[in-house]
Amino acid sequence: MEKLLKGHKKFKNIKFKKNKDLYLKLVKDGQHPGTLFIGCSDSRVIPGLITGTKPGDLFTIQNVGNFVAPYKPDEDYHSTASAIEYAVSVLKVDDIIVCGHSHCGAIKSLYKDLGEDCDLIHTNKWLELGSEAKKAAQLFGGTEEEILVNTEKLSAIFQLENLLTYPAVKKRVEDGNLNLHVWYYMIESGEIEYYDDESGTFIHMDES
Ligand SMILES: [Zn+2]
Repeated sequence: MEKLLKGHKKFKNIKFKKNKDLYLKLVKDGQHPGTLFIGCSDSRVIPGLITGTKPGDLFTIQNVGNFVAPYKPDEDYHSTASAIEYAVSVLKVDDIIVCGHSHCGAIKSLYKDLGEDCDLIHTNKWLELGSEAKKAAQLFGGTEEEILVNTEKLSAIFQLENLLTYPAVKKRVEDGNLNLHVWYYMIESGEIEYYDDESGTFIHMDES
């Protein structure tokens, strides 16, 4: 905690002061982020840092595995779904990025039994959202490392299908005013690849 308290002090006294006008403008005008960023909760994935964005630029969802549960309008509480709805129908973002990443613990967990511990009841259920990617990656085959990387990448692609089960997302995509993207962030190199729909491959950002 000590580190956080010191960090906050530093933020308040240096970074906030330096960017005070931006913060005041964001209060006065409200937030108008252009992008919904769906990333993993992993502590090494910091959306604002890896995209060089400022406060107000990204509306962010971070959950275990950067998964999107399919549209399911029932009486339950759905945190990811509500954030998607808010971003698409209220904030009217122009883009949604689903960003997978290397060395993802959630994806690794698909390959080991976490047990039936009731303390993990939600985690085990949530990880089902990666099972389709796991099956596909296993079909591709390769080394253990290659299978994990392919699962991380395929999972991010498959989440787009789940995104399209949301009526508001589907409508805006069909109307041509919402774009969906798949990214893959590599912790070890700081690089990002994006999925190119036409070629069906991931391409380095630097090459585009
Ligand atoms: Zn992860």
